[in-house]
Amino acid sequence: MENVCATTKSPSWPEGVPGCPACDEFAQEREAAFYRRDYSAATDENVKLTRHKWRVHP
Ligand SMILES: [Zn+2]
Repeated sequence: MENVCATTKSPSWPEGVPGCPACDEFAQEREAAFYRRDYSAATDENVKLTRHKWRVHP
């Protein structure tokens, strides 16, 4: 079952803050998950990144 919307990178993905190692890691994990078509893991990383941004980069 392929969700067409999930096969392209969403422009609504949160972006990491440049220079922040934690943001960088979440973004990299998300890319990796995306390229192995593990979209639920990619979504997971988005949630983590978003939460991290709220906490650390208000
Ligand atoms: Zn950060």
